[in-house]
Order: sequence, then C-alpha cells, then structure tokens
Amino acid sequence: MGLKTPEEYRESLRDGRVTYIVGERVADVTRHPWFETAIANAMEDYEYEDPEVRAVRTYETESGAAAHRVFQVPRTPEDLEKRVKLTEVTSITTAVSAVLMALYNIKDQVAQVNGQYAENIERVYRHCRDNDLRAAQVITDAKGDRSRRPVEQDDPDLYMRIVERSKDGIVVRGAKLHITAASLVHELTVMPTKAMGAGEEQYSVSFSVPVATPGVKIINRGYARPGRSRMDYPLSARHNAPEGFVIFDDVFVPWERVFLAGEHQLAGVLAHSLGLWERIGGLIGMVRRSRMMVGVAELLAEYNGIAKAGHIQEKIGELIFYAEGLRMALETAVRSYKTTATGMVYPDPMAVNVGKYFGAANFHLMVRHLHDISGGLVVTLPTEADFRNPELTAYLEKYLHTRPEVKVEDRMKLYNLIRDFSADTYGGWELVTTVQAGGGLAAQRIVVLREYDLEAAKELAREEAGIAETRRPARI
Ligand SMILES: Cc1cc2nc3c(=O)[nH]c(=O)nc-3n(C[C@H](O)[C@H](O)[C@H](O)COP(=O)(O)OP(=O)(O)OC[C@H]3O[C@@H](n4cnc5c(N)ncnc54)[C@H](O)[C@@H]3O)c2cc1C
Repeated sequence: MGLKTPEEYRESLRDGRVTYIVGERVADVTRHPWFETAIANAMEDYEYEDPEVRAVRTYETESGAAAHRVFQVPRTPEDLEKRVKLTEVTSITTAVSAVLMALYNIKDQVAQVNGQYAENIERVYRHCRDNDLRAAQVITDAKGDRSRRPVEQDDPDLYMRIVERSKDGIVVRGAKLHITAASLVHELTVMPTKAMGAGEEQYSVSFSVPVATPGVKIINRGYARPGRSRMDYPLSARHNAPEGFVIFDDVFVPWERVFLAGEHQLAGVLAHSLGLWERIGGLIGMVRRSRMMVGVAELLAEYNGIAKAGHIQEKIGELIFYAEGLRMALETAVRSYKTTATGMVYPDPMAVNVGKYFGAANFHLMVRHLHDISGGLVVTLPTEADFRNPELTAYLEKYLHTRPEVKVEDRMKLYNLIRDFSADTYGGWELVTTVQAGGGLAAQRIVVLREYDLEAAKELAREEAGIAETRRPARI
C-alpha cells in the first residue's frame, strides 16, 4: 500500500506479462532496450521526494493518505487547474491512468443499473490508487467493416465480446488496438468502443484485469529504436511509449472485476466517460508543441538570415495564430468549467473540442509552414556521428556556416529537432496521432453539433432577416 518508488514501479513490471516487439517475445520488459526510455519516463512519475514536485504530483485522499493526482476527481476549479499542470509534466504511461478516475466518476450512474458493477469500479479504483498502480485505456476495437454493426461482422470477434458466463465470471474474446503503454502499466481497463443497442448484449462489456492475466497478449509498436543519439533525435531519444495491439484470447474475468456484462444501455455511458479527459490531454500537449514550433521557426529563420523576409514573417505569424488559438482554448476550457450532479468539476466541453479540432485540423498546415521555412536540411543533414568524425568535422563546420553568432552544432540541433518532430519516424507518428488520438475529427464535430446553441443562432438569423417567428422548420 502507498506510493511506490521508481524502482518498485520497474520491479512490478516483472510479472510474466506476454508481450512482443518486432516479432520477438519479450522475456522481461525491464531489461529490453525497446522499453528502456519509456520505462525511464514512467519512473519519473514515481519521484515524490522533492516537496514542490510532490505538491503537483500528489493529493490527499479521504483517508488522509497521499496518492498520485492522476486519480483525483476534481471537485474545485483549483483541483482542475492542478490536474492541467500535472498533465503538462507527466509521462503518457501515467496520464492514461485517468481512465480509472473517469470510471469512478460515473459509478453512481452505473449503480442505477447494477449496484455490483459500481462496487467493482470503486474497489478496482481504490486498489490502483492506494497501490500507486497504472492502468491503460483499453477502448478502441478492431471494428472490421465500419459500415456494419458488431453482430453483422464476418467475424463475431471484431468487437470485444463475452463468449462465456459462469457463476465465477465471464470469458472475453477480442482485440483492442492502439493501446498506449499497455505493456508498461499494471491494469488493462477495458470499455466498449461505442454505445451499443438491443441485440448487442454480448458486446456490452467492461472490466479491468492485470496485464499478466492468462490469455492477454500484447504486440507493441514503438516509434523510436533504442540507442538513438540525443543530438540526432532530441525528442524521441528522450520520450517514448509503445502502443499495444492487445489480444484477449478467451480471457477469464472474475465477477468482482466486471463493470458491465450485457446491460447495453450502459455501454454508451462507459464509452463516453473518458472522451473529454482524453481530449483535454491532447489539447495540453498541442499547446506546448505549438509554442515550440513558433520558437523553432523564429530561431531557424534568425540562424539562416531570413527572419525579416516578408513571406517568412507571414508564416511565423500563422504559427503564432495557431499557438495562441490553442492556448486560449485551453484557458477557456479551464475557466469556463462545469460541475456534474456528483460534484465533479470538468473543463468546458465546447472549448476542449473546439481546441482539439482546431489543433488537429491545422497541424499539417503548420508543419508545412515549418518545412517551408526550414529547407531541405531537415531531411538531408549529416548525423552526429559524421559531425564527430575528425575527417568530416571541418567540412561540416565550413559548409553549414551561416552567421558568426550561430554555432554550427546548434544549427544542426535545431534541424534535428524539426526532423525528429515532423519528418522522421516519431514525426510521422505525431502527424497521425494529432488527428486520431482521442477520436478523429468527426468525433469532435459530433460534440460541437450537440453542444452548440443552434436554436439561439437560428433566432438571430431570423431576426436579422426579418422572418416572423411563426413557423419553426425542423433542423435540416
Ligand atoms: C498513437 C495513438 C494512440 C492511441 N491510444 C489509444 C488508447 O490508449 N486507447 C484506445 O482505446 N485507443 C487509442 N487510440 C485509438 C484512437 O482513439 C483511434 O485511432 C480513433 O478513435 C480512430 O479509430 P480508428 O483508428 O479505428 O479509425 P477508424 O474508426 O477506422 O476511422 C478512420 C475514418 O473512418 C471514419 N469512420 C469510422 N467509422 C465510420 C462509420 N461507421 N461511418 C462513417 N465514418 C466512419 C472516421 O470518422 C475516420 O474519418 C490511439 C490512436 C493513436 C493513433
């Protein structure tokens, strides 16, 4: 019980979990080079010694014990602000554990349908919180042919389903894709990927199991090969988290760990409980990255002597509009917080979804501006090893020179940052992830169409057009 040390976290991953990377079965994730950086990142979240860090990273539970803040249900605007601050400095392996906080918050709604499920949610939440465990958000199904319902698929397992029930529990089969940090957490917290209807009872399933549960197999995909030079890969040599293709090959789940097993009306409640928290996490990341893009563009323009050129200033201006739009969306999301009936303080859904959409929809254009400012060295710059080769150093110093105040090594570092961030393996990952993680663009559109006051907007249109309010046509 209680907070773990970084070492205790690492040791806790040595539990016989079945996990693969690049075709190889990994005997021990803590000793495999592919996981080294990601585990080191997650270990930092277990550093609680420094009082200032501890104040951001922990909170006091109802029993007076200290727990990681990722488990805290925000009850005041200050709690929400602290959560945003925490997310800014937390590795993704810890951040995804917000899934348990989101579940805990809807337990009363779940209790209205089945009290046992609500008790199970509370027990698993407390177990993870009080033992400082981490949980992955295991939601996205394989989904097969997107135009067909789960029951209509060629293979009935394309959405996770219950294949057996007994007095002790359920047996589930299916695969959940793109699961961030699945191999580096303790629990796999599974929820339906979407709302389910009548006839989809077998697909209305939610539970949490330890990663090492028999039948669970994880195929990892990482963007950063181990042993990368910090100079060549300034971001991906320092930060990493593999995504998991998680297979549930007839996994037994005891009833005390089941949160839903058939009551289809709850599937949507569970599926949507996390979306807002996922998206504000994405928005927080975009605020930081967009500011970095402005800095990189301006610095490189100065290094290359083009900072005053009209078309360069225009592009840097676009990058600033982007960064400021995101920052304002995040500020509004926190300032215009809302409160649920259960007392949870949550960010304004409109601001979060507008911000996430604005950030995702314009990211590729911003990368284009950055590449336009940067030139071809983004992808053709020689590596650190070339620079350190005594036969080559002088040539690189000579031909990469721009201005007396610019160190060639610094110029190279900046190009490496641009390439790593936007034009290499991690950069490709970033391009796709910005659009898809937390749901694609269509998912945010659904929310804004639901949240926006269309009636008030139509009223204004009628007023301006001089249309009498005699007939209210149905929404087209
Ligand atoms: C790096 C990364 C990390 C992720 N981490 C997690 C995680 O930790 N946990 C998790 O559960 N998920 C995670 N995801 C998954 C993410 O939420 C999904 O990628 C996203 O919801 C889109 O689902 P999909 O990839 O199956 O694409 P699809 O659903 O196939 O979407 C592709 C396109 O098809 C459209 N489409 C799909 N179905 C329909 C339909 N019926 N009608 C019309 N259009 C449709 C979509 O709108 C979209 O435009 C992660 C994704 C990435 C890239």
